Amino acid sequence: MDIKELGEFGLINKISSKFKNKRKSTILGIGDDCAILNSESQLILLSSDMLVEGIHFDLSFTPIKHLGYKSVVVNLSDIYSMNAEPKQILINIAISSKFSVEAIDEFYEGVSIACDEYSVDLVGGDTTSSVSGLIISCSVVGYSKETSIVRRNGAKNNDIICVSGDLGRSFLGLKILQREKVNFIKNPKMQPSLNEYKDIIEKQLRPRARKDVFEFFKDEKITPNSMIDISDGLSSELLHLSLNSNLGFKIFEDKLPIDKSCNKISDELKMDVVSCALNGGEEYELLFSLNPLDYEKIKEKKFDISPIGFFTKKNEKILVLNDENEIDLNSDGWNHFT
Ligand code: ADP
Ligand code: MG
Repeated sequence: MDIKELGEFGLINKISSKFKNKRKSTILGIGDDCAILNSESQLILLSSDMLVEGIHFDLSFTPIKHLGYKSVVVNLSDIYSMNAEPKQILINIAISSKFSVEAIDEFYEGVSIACDEYSVDLVGGDTTSSVSGLIISCSVVGYSKETSIVRRNGAKNNDIICVSGDLGRSFLGLKILQREKVNFIKNPKMQPSLNEYKDIIEKQLRPRARKDVFEFFKDEKITPNSMIDISDGLSSELLHLSLNSNLGFKIFEDKLPIDKSCNKISDELKMDVVSCALNGGEEYELLFSLNPLDYEKIKEKKFDISPIGFFTKKNEKILVLNDENEIDLNSDGWNHFT
């Protein structure tokens, strides 16, 4: 169905009928000029992200339902990376005429699945038209008590640097999807067989925000000294923590959590797997630093958190390759790796 037929109000009604508010802090959701929230004397954290067709996503290989899901999840990740809890989101969309009501319905189906999985309420947004493809802007509201919030600038000398999950799959997934798109354009009769790449493609198309890590910290009563989520790649996020906290660091190549599947696929794509793990974006894992005593408390727990190095007082940004070799991530050695 053409969106014109339904009209803006019809479309907003259709969207809002999919969502039911779950959170106590949501006093009023979609329907008035503003949403009303109750912070119950907690601090409020806000973050926004924009996703532009052709820049941040390619609809030729991104199912629109996954896009709805991912738009929510990448925003939630920013709140978890402050050690806070996301509870509401707002989504603005600018839609070009090529989209049908059914396509927008699919998008919001993905949004709704993410909202249920992470228990957040969609409390508003704006809907308008676009002449240049789909534009999505998502904002998220999170809550925390002041003493729990973790910033980029809190790392301390000797802190253990840890990362959740594994690195490299999302980037390799994107490379596979882009390769198959080129193959498909060359030969439209060839259906790509993506079964063997399922795991890496899934991490690219349907990433998860690490709510479980946030909950793990709460259960274990530990608070990282610094934290950031990995949207642009491990090395770039590590540089953010290091610069903001005024510390150097040493990380170890053999400690980087790289899934076995990445070795095979990076070989196939003639890429260096360590470089993929260091520079690959859109992982949405958490990178954080812990006081060594806190790390001792959790190191025996079976949780997918890997220690990869530590912060130092020196002005160094070092990747240790093996007993004899290390690379200064600030020097020319770095270029060799990118
Ligand atoms: P206004 O003209 O005051 O901006 P709208 O007609 O745009 O109001 O919106 C009416 C209600 O619908 C508001 O609560 C708004 O937040 C909500 N809304 C509009 N577009 C969306 C959307 N894409 N997703 C969620 N809520 C939306
Ligand atoms: Mg509006």
